[in-house]
Amino acid sequence: MLIHNFSAGPSILAPSVLDQSAAAIREFAGMGLSILEVSHRSAQFEAVVEETQSLIRELTGLDHSYDVLLLQGGASTQFFQIPHNFLGTMAAYTKTGTWASEAIKEAKGYGEVRVLASSEDRNFSYIPKGYQIPEEADYFHCTSNNTIFGTQMKSFPDCPVPLICDMSSDIFSRSLDFNKFDFIYAGAQKNMGPAGVTAVMLKKSMYERKVKGRHIPTMLDYEVHAKKGSMHNTPPVFAILVSMLNLRWVKENGGVAGMEKRNKEKSELLYNAIDKSSWFKGTAAVEDRSPMNACFVFQDENPDAEKKFENACAEAGISGIKGHRSVGGYRASMYNALPLESVQALVSVIETFA
Ligand code: PMP
Repeated sequence: MLIHNFSAGPSILAPSVLDQSAAAIREFAGMGLSILEVSHRSAQFEAVVEETQSLIRELTGLDHSYDVLLLQGGASTQFFQIPHNFLGTMAAYTKTGTWASEAIKEAKGYGEVRVLASSEDRNFSYIPKGYQIPEEADYFHCTSNNTIFGTQMKSFPDCPVPLICDMSSDIFSRSLDFNKFDFIYAGAQKNMGPAGVTAVMLKKSMYERKVKGRHIPTMLDYEVHAKKGSMHNTPPVFAILVSMLNLRWVKENGGVAGMEKRNKEKSELLYNAIDKSSWFKGTAAVEDRSPMNACFVFQDENPDAEKKFENACAEAGISGIKGHRSVGGYRASMYNALPLESVQALVSVIETFA
């Protein structure tokens, strides 16, 4: 049976990317060896790192004032690596969900964290707006897409201090002025590739902002990773290879503008069905809805109907739509590689409840 993979992450990858990845496990780059057993210092693998970095640059349009790094430790490591490097006195954050809260928690170990705005009062169901970013902050940190709550920042504030953004769950999904940011990071396992690699794009001028007098372990020093071409230690070779193949796929399918068009079509189809249904309702404020993660619940508690809906989903091959425990209900993640047909399949199940 065809499975429609709505998983929030790790998530769906295009079949052609999986086929090429599987082939590389058998034999990589005509070397007669698997990608899993060749040196990361081989010319063939160095070419993979370089192509991955240049695809990231090309897809985001970042200019050469940025370094593109491929690191490990997930986005969660960035939650402390960023303040370890740059939080000397005070940093400003917005609290828009579980991941933003985690970033705040980690930063508190390094200095004052000023939470400029929070949407916790309504279970993170909206994006707070209209806050002032203090000029004395070391940086401002925000989360572009709140994976668990299904909200997305549609615009970014003008920022008098370095603008740092966690784009883990919507990188490469839409056109943005990426050059507006001083520091972007993303765990790969949504729109970039498999888990195991984290993309960091930072302005080289950030190196001058490293906190003076603080010891920075080598593995936490962005400048070292940049100088060593993301090869200071053994990189996650397979995760990088799959990311490269996936980024090629993004490029071949119209780049981020092409992804945005597909994602808009998919998410509009689903949100329209939710809004039309007399059974379901969306949980996020309409203007802040994420095209990546659509969260919805039954309008009224109804265990029988829930069971019926979940069975119908299972029968239709719909997988991974259980909502996160902090929201409940359902979450359909519609990352780049999810085809329109999968959303149509979910919509037809929703419509049988209409
Ligand atoms: N930030 C966001 C927005 C996320 O969605 C996630 C993971 N779902 C994380 C951070 C944490 O990422 P990781 O598991 O790579 O540490």
